[in-house]
Amino acid sequence: MEGIEKLKEMIEGSSRIVFLGGAGVSTESGIPDFRSENGIFNAIREFGYPPETLLSRSFFDRDPETFFKYYRGLLMNGEAKPNAAHYALAKLEEKGKLTAVATQNIDGLHTMAGSRNVYELHGSIMRNHCMKCGKFYDEKFIAGSKGVPRCTCGGIVKPDVVLYEEGLDHDTLMGAITHIMRADMLIVGGTSLQVYPAAGLIDYYRGDKLVLINKSSTPYDRYADLVINDSIGKVLGEAVGIE
Ligand code: ZN
Repeated sequence: MEGIEKLKEMIEGSSRIVFLGGAGVSTESGIPDFRSENGIFNAIREFGYPPETLLSRSFFDRDPETFFKYYRGLLMNGEAKPNAAHYALAKLEEKGKLTAVATQNIDGLHTMAGSRNVYELHGSIMRNHCMKCGKFYDEKFIAGSKGVPRCTCGGIVKPDVVLYEEGLDHDTLMGAITHIMRADMLIVGGTSLQVYPAAGLIDYYRGDKLVLINKSSTPYDRYADLVINDSIGKVLGEAVGIE
């Protein structure tokens, strides 16, 4: 395929690649996108609210019981595994060609695949902290808890996931921006570029190798140096040589 050959060539000539990824990277690992039409429909049918409400900070504070009921349903209980896209990016980092992965996903799959420098813009389900004493809890604790998960001290254990109405973590955002500004190649994948902050982050890239890989077109296609409308796992897997 012509696009993949071109992508291979661009990767070959780069040494400071940054990857910016969206929900499409995770859906290929079987993780449902709660922002999809189906995800919204199911949330309203079962809980009476759209995901944007259920996953908002004010809802969390008002009705943590229902929040956790919905949130627990989103957790994969460790069943989701990284796909070829995750492994390809880990391999590029290992080869010294990729400096950072910035992702909107909260599933921790990049880290699981071996990526080290990962900026999780929306946080991670893998980290949870007591709101009272700060004690750490893993994902299994939340998945296996009933009702509102409580710390041994009695405080509520809150996922380190950026809820609607909450700001992004400043250091995480700045880290991603710094790497994008220094990048000689920016690969954007699995996002229609309509969810904050992905679209805004692209503007920090100054190079001439902007690659967009997404199943459907995006508003940024015309600014890209290469557009590939296909599965992110298939494209990156092939370009980097992952089985
Ligand atoms: Zn505590």
